[in-house]
Amino acid sequence: MRKQVWQYQCEHCGMKSTAAWWVKKHEMGCTKNPKRECGVCRKLLEQAQPKIEDLIALLPAEDIRLIEVRLQDPEAFDCDMIYLEMALTLSAALASLKEASGGCPACMLAAMRQDSRDCGSASWVSLFTGSLGGADHNFNFKEIMAECRERYREGNHLGGAM
Ligand SMILES: [Zn+2]
Ligand SMILES: [Zn+2]
Repeated sequence: MRKQVWQYQCEHCGMKSTAAWWVKKHEMGCTKNPKRECGVCRKLLEQAQPKIEDLIALLPAEDIRLIEVRLQDPEAFDCDMIYLEMALTLSAALASLKEASGGCPACMLAAMRQDSRDCGSASWVSLFTGSLGGADHNFNFKEIMAECRERYREGNHLGGAM
């Protein structure tokens, strides 16, 4: 027998579920929600949530756009050098993003997903997770999340015994 079920959808990213409470909880922290409340900052890092505008401002949209413009004209420039420059630009941006977010991967991802500026052909997420020129600018959500959990464990939650 076929049964009709209600589906609920996140109004920011479109994610669906049949569990209303779950979607509600997700929406609150959804990395596409401009007014999101970061659970990683609050519960795991126990820090004040960074302002999303401050994080977005660290993304070098204009630099990347100009680099992409130069890549359109491979005759005039040395492509390898331009890719290297792009990789260095991205890794510097990722480092400052990490610092400014207090190392919160969810806030970093939120900045990447919410920046509406034109940064060339690729999205920030694909630029930061692509394989372009080495791994220094690779944003690995799971890895940074693991660092956060490690910090939580090492913090006053276990270290109290010292
Ligand atoms: Zn969502
Ligand atoms: Zn956060």
